[in-house]
Amino acid sequence: MKACFFREHGGLDKIRHGDLPDPVPGPGEVRVRIRAGALNHLDLFVRNGIPGLTLAMPHVMGADGAGVVDLVGPGVTRVAPGDEVVLNPGINCGACEFCLRGEHSLCVSFHLLGEHVWGTFAGYVVAPEANAYPRPQGLTWEESAAFPLTFLTAWRMLVTKAKARPGESILILGIGGGVSLAALQIAKLLGLTVGVTSGSPDKLLRAKEMGAEFAIDHGAADFSRETRKITGKRGVDIVLDSVGKATWKRSIASLARGGRLLTCGATTGPDPEEDLARIFWNQLTVMGSTMGTHAEFSDLLRILEGGRIRPVVDSVFPLSETREALRRMEEKKQFGKIVIRAD
Ligand SMILES: [Zn+2]
Repeated sequence: MKACFFREHGGLDKIRHGDLPDPVPGPGEVRVRIRAGALNHLDLFVRNGIPGLTLAMPHVMGADGAGVVDLVGPGVTRVAPGDEVVLNPGINCGACEFCLRGEHSLCVSFHLLGEHVWGTFAGYVVAPEANAYPRPQGLTWEESAAFPLTFLTAWRMLVTKAKARPGESILILGIGGGVSLAALQIAKLLGLTVGVTSGSPDKLLRAKEMGAEFAIDHGAADFSRETRKITGKRGVDIVLDSVGKATWKRSIASLARGGRLLTCGATTGPDPEEDLARIFWNQLTVMGSTMGTHAEFSDLLRILEGGRIRPVVDSVFPLSETREALRRMEEKKQFGKIVIRAD
């Protein structure tokens, strides 16, 4: 099969496009002929090398993908060749105490497609049968590949963790990335008042066109001060911060009393300055979240099936130009998902 892969960790120059052996599905696994995949920051982390994660080389990146089942392994009953599917990128063991509780993203051996195993930037990918879901009717292949990781992450944070209620307010940092845009779309669906931040006036304008009530240029102003000014000193009920070190303290300062701070990543670093006084005095809750459960993925599919939310596709690159696609993400130029066409 054609694939985009690397043989050693490093920068963009390590990315190769060429032939690799077709993967073969084992027991309980299916092979999917990929029609489209989508980029995530995870791909950059994996390519750069994650401390403690040793990969067999060569390695194929890509967590998100959609395509057609072409081969099934022994014991597969729920999926058949010819099925059009979208993949839940989170792979869990099904047997540990957390899996048995239904908390699949807490699984002791939880991993993602394209992280420990070959991913979707290829002609074919192999995944557990349980991870192949019928793709939502009405979405294009590109849109089908564009939603799983980011929408599942945002859905779990807003619905399951923060238990967001209509009428509450949320501040979403760094609008334009996959998770932040998914959170904006889900927050509007839930009836929240939404504020966003970005250093790009163009991205702020586009977020307002998508329904954000207020937009703060974090290059021009302290976003916590602006948030308090806009909310009449009250602050917002929820802040979604996947930026980490650079923004954490101001995120805490943006929250209303009893507010919730959500984190699903730390792109600027994992060791921020804290403000414990504000956390206990204002009775704030800090919540970590990673991916989601199979039940949450099913809920999300129903929402997408209804057509009330369509993922935003920034751009589409052929598989042979995956390096350029990664460059676009590294340069933070995207608004929405960068998609790879496998054909
Ligand atoms: Zn498990």
